[in-house]
Amino acid sequence: METEYKTKKQAGRFLEYGGQYVPETLMNELNKMADVYQEAKADPDFQAELADLLANYANRPSLLYYAKNMTEDLGGAQIYFKREDLNHTGAHKINNVIGQALLAKRMGKKRLIAETGAGQHGVATATIAALFGLECEVFMGKEDTDRQRLNVYRMELLGAKVHAVTSGSMVLKDAINAALQDFAARPEDTFYVMGSATGPHPYPEMVRDFQSVISQESKQQIQDQLGRLPDKVIACVGGGSNAIGSFAHYIDHPEVDLIGVEAAGKGVDTDLTAATIEKGRLGVFHGMKSLFLQNDSGQINPVYSISAGLDYPGVGPEHAALAAEHRAQYVGITDDEAVAAFEYIAKQEGIIAAIESCHAVAYVQKLAPTLPKDQVIVCTLSGRGDKDVAAIAKYRGVEIHE
Ligand SMILES: *Cc1c(COP(=O)(O)O)cnc(C)c1O
Repeated sequence: METEYKTKKQAGRFLEYGGQYVPETLMNELNKMADVYQEAKADPDFQAELADLLANYANRPSLLYYAKNMTEDLGGAQIYFKREDLNHTGAHKINNVIGQALLAKRMGKKRLIAETGAGQHGVATATIAALFGLECEVFMGKEDTDRQRLNVYRMELLGAKVHAVTSGSMVLKDAINAALQDFAARPEDTFYVMGSATGPHPYPEMVRDFQSVISQESKQQIQDQLGRLPDKVIACVGGGSNAIGSFAHYIDHPEVDLIGVEAAGKGVDTDLTAATIEKGRLGVFHGMKSLFLQNDSGQINPVYSISAGLDYPGVGPEHAALAAEHRAQYVGITDDEAVAAFEYIAKQEGIIAAIESCHAVAYVQKLAPTLPKDQVIVCTLSGRGDKDVAAIAKYRGVEIHE
């Protein structure tokens, strides 16, 4: 977690990206958070408590699994999956939430707030709030509360209050605005747990550090299993937290290719896409300078992907910098390709992986056969796919009544 990356030229900046574009009340609180975080990062007690929760609550280390069937079937590079789907609550999100909630406790906060799109980050935050005995309120676009009733109920079971946000287009971006406003209005007792490596400083750096446990482990595991580093590390990119966590400990190894997979939706040349790095332009939104899907007057465009976890109109600033420096490469995978990968990995490996993760799997399917057999791919499975089964059935024309 101590790595200093070359993209970090000054606090909160990754090249020209990042920064802190917020009202003054919020800036004071964020700077306090940044200071407490630096202190916590260097405090062995904080690190020990974090390590203990990751091991004994979240079920880490997650497995690095050799996908023998897929490797043989695709006939090229050896494929390994980093199994974040096996974490408590079923995805990588818990890594980050545990870290931020510990920081909230350290700052004496009593109330956690979070934004959520499909509900994954809201559920992870409500989970840790229950564990720590903190109040929890989750902001979720009204459209999403209607579409994801099961996750709303799940958060309520965990003791959280869910606010249906009715401003704007009533989706994730509006939920983030509402959460930022709430945080600015009540900084005394509230900690905003950001769900991805996005938003104003210190979130992108902090979330990256908390998620970097993924590559810290995978680097050790691949060395233990093969005695070498991988040739390619691949992960899906929404806001970019599982990808930056999967990349972090390889960034200083230029021989390891880093590949982020964005959701192309119906195709990058259509308006129904979420491929932010490929199609986005420089802008300022949600407190950060980064790449955003926007129209000519700078209005944020609606985004689309079959995967609710990847349809964010922006991307974390460190990814924008890694792309600009050509240290990482970003590719698009369509809905059709992701759904085919969902079915393929289920049949080949007996793993039902999240539709988000299956964007990365689809790219592995394309890439592996083009590489020699001595090459090694490590691909992150960011989450499990139980939540997606009904949607995939519907995509294939099968109606399932829940
Ligand atoms: C939220 C989510 C994502 C996307 O978020 P990132 O911050 O880009 O990692 C990907 N996969 C799963 C399973 C998720 O829940």
